[in-house]
Amino acid sequence: MSDTHVTDVNLVLRSTRVVTPDGTRPASIAVAAGRIAAVLPHDADVPAGARLEDVGDHAVLPGLVDTHVHVNDPGRTEWEGFWTATRAAAAGGITTLLDMPLNSLPPTTTVGNLRVKQDVARPKAHVDTGFWGGAVPGNVKDLRPLHDAGVFGFKCFLSPSGVEEFPELDQEQLAGSLAEIAGFGGLLIVHAEDPHHLAAAPQRPGPRYVDFLASRPRDAENTAIANLIAQARRLDARVHVLHLSSGDALPLIAEARAEGVRVTVESCPHFLTLTAEEVPDGATEFKCCPPIREAANQDVLWQGLADGTIDCVVSDHSPCTGDLKTPDFASAWGGISSLQLGLPAIWTEARRRGHTLEDVVRWMSSAPAELAGLTRKGAIEGGRDADFAVLAPDETFTVDPAELHHRNQVTAYAGKTLHGVVKSTWLRGTRIVENGTVAEPTGRLLERND
Ligand SMILES: [Zn+2]
Repeated sequence: MSDTHVTDVNLVLRSTRVVTPDGTRPASIAVAAGRIAAVLPHDADVPAGARLEDVGDHAVLPGLVDTHVHVNDPGRTEWEGFWTATRAAAAGGITTLLDMPLNSLPPTTTVGNLRVKQDVARPKAHVDTGFWGGAVPGNVKDLRPLHDAGVFGFKCFLSPSGVEEFPELDQEQLAGSLAEIAGFGGLLIVHAEDPHHLAAAPQRPGPRYVDFLASRPRDAENTAIANLIAQARRLDARVHVLHLSSGDALPLIAEARAEGVRVTVESCPHFLTLTAEEVPDGATEFKCCPPIREAANQDVLWQGLADGTIDCVVSDHSPCTGDLKTPDFASAWGGISSLQLGLPAIWTEARRRGHTLEDVVRWMSSAPAELAGLTRKGAIEGGRDADFAVLAPDETFTVDPAELHHRNQVTAYAGKTLHGVVKSTWLRGTRIVENGTVAEPTGRLLERND
């Protein structure tokens, strides 16, 4: 640390368990101008003029980066909104979120629409917030302008999205959009379920989860991912598989990567901690697409995390009002609300399976930051933003939906007892959450390469 930095340090955050890229160790994190100036020994002198915050044995993690959040603002703000979503994120230890381009009105498919969303988000953002663009039929000409305007990449569907203003791409349209995106070095992120396999699957509406599961078979995911990999290979394009549920697809993803195809993968807390076997009939707060699958499949996903095939764990927080969660799985809105709960949900299952907090940090902070090119986020090391989640890893709590900051207190995790209590959250050196109380918004809007 240079002398200049020493004089600028205004905060030292000290803990016996700081999770750094080199491991977990006692340390004192020196913060200057919202960034990490240096990670010092635990007993380092506190520079004159700096405040010491000693969190004892609580773990200090880099703030989580959730690259998959449906904020739905403007347009469907009764479902969520930037005020409530970013408060929930902060309370859950997330300091950076990227908003999905659909379910808001307008969708983020043109630069004009992006500006509308940014204007809505700016005064409400409690955490740093960026935007994905959307690739839909007919907007190839909008992709480069969106890229230049700072979106982090483009989302598309290959099967119906659930909202009419965000149609899916067919294989020809996918090729056209992907070629355009590859041409400027962009990233395409894909909801990968094949429409033909979905159409061929048995459709039995009603409250039975087994019927819903049968209507969204693993083959639909496996085929869509295989087709996507083929297109990425042909066009030398960079693609990312969203919300992987089918463990069957992991070998083909691993093979493609070994060949040099640029494909990354995320999964979500609900696929990794909830199972089809436990979903009560009519309990459509568990409905999402692709669906939560069997426990045996979940074991395969954890193997994919352990061996590195799955890069990221992000929420796919996609809430709605309670009335849209009708007891019929076919017609209920698909989406699981979990923004505030992802860290304890994953940590609870990770520790049970012998994983460490360092693993959780890699899946939920470092890898999503890397996916999005957020070089100032995702690690506790000099030069990065001073974003932290202070966690009591061994404390437990029982999920009471009424205590969540989400706009709608509908969640598949209600009543679960989870390990890991977020004690405080820090954004660029400022404490934004303390024991569940969230400060006024100080989040910034992010653009690619920030
Ligand atoms: Zn989603």
